[in-house]
Amino acid sequence: MKPNKISSYSLPRAGFFSALENLNSRKDVVEISELNFSQRVRNELARVKPTHPSCKWAELFGLIQTIGTLNISTRGPSLEIKTENAAVARKAVTLFKELGQMDSELIVEKETKLKKRNLYRIRVSAEDFSRIFPESIHSNILDKDVPTFAEDQECCRRSYLRGLFLGSGSVQNPEKTYHLEIRIAEKRFAERLKEFLDGTDLKFGVVERRNEFVLYIKDSDSVATFLTMVGAHSSLLHLENIRIIKDMKNNINRMVNCEDANIEKTITASVKQVQAIDLLEERGMLKTLPKSFQEVARVRKENFDASYTKIAEILEISKSAVSYRLKKIEDMAEKIAKDRRKDQEDEE
Ligand SMILES: [Zn+2]
Repeated sequence: MKPNKISSYSLPRAGFFSALENLNSRKDVVEISELNFSQRVRNELARVKPTHPSCKWAELFGLIQTIGTLNISTRGPSLEIKTENAAVARKAVTLFKELGQMDSELIVEKETKLKKRNLYRIRVSAEDFSRIFPESIHSNILDKDVPTFAEDQECCRRSYLRGLFLGSGSVQNPEKTYHLEIRIAEKRFAERLKEFLDGTDLKFGVVERRNEFVLYIKDSDSVATFLTMVGAHSSLLHLENIRIIKDMKNNINRMVNCEDANIEKTITASVKQVQAIDLLEERGMLKTLPKSFQEVARVRKENFDASYTKIAEILEISKSAVSYRLKKIEDMAEKIAKDRRKDQEDEE
């Protein structure tokens, strides 16, 4: 759509608005605006099931490194994962179970706090910790480093990112803005993660916020890429739907603004022309002009907001004839005004 075509676009515009309303009234799109998008993405990711053991390890790493607490005692390290999200808790329990063949050692507590939100704790004792985590990989967790297998394999990298997001990620409702972030407590680990993420297609920024380090991306393409990487395909569809609607709204706004500008121009010109016509009439000069000029003047006064195209249509003459005759009238009026100013100066 080129701007110069827009003034003759009033009919299709109505079509655009109804198309927009149709899109807006689609159930899936309305649903998303009513729900917390972060929650939706987390719920979807919690249902993704990695198949390879290394991918499961990678995802569990992401969870532990963001929402896990390690306690070191003389008996060795023990671990607790805390989350208010049931889906995330379920995911952690499943991963522990699949990787460590554990059932009963995991405790899931539901606590009703002031805000009446549940808090889920998943505890791994020192004995189980050393059994579940082989020596070779547990130093990565203790040191909060990116696990080497997550750097080497694409599938594991994706799983690790999923774990990190499930633990401490959030994403803004795309209707408002495009912004996805992962919060990390330690500066050194945040920097290490940034380095790791730089190796993917995503360019994360880092900012310090309230004693935390926030890794973020804030353009629609990056957010879409991230959702694809971690396997949030249905959330990605929602984002794309909203992106289409937003683009359409922007286009329509641009068109409307353009039309407004055109109308304003027409009216400004029209005011000048009508003043000129009035002046010529006042001086009895309009009737001395050829009939064709008088006709244009009459139609202009009767159709204040009409464009030259419209006046030309009414009179069945060319647009350039309309333009020429109105210009002539304006020039005559200008000359009268100029002479009048000159007379006044001479009198003074
Ligand atoms: Zn893998």
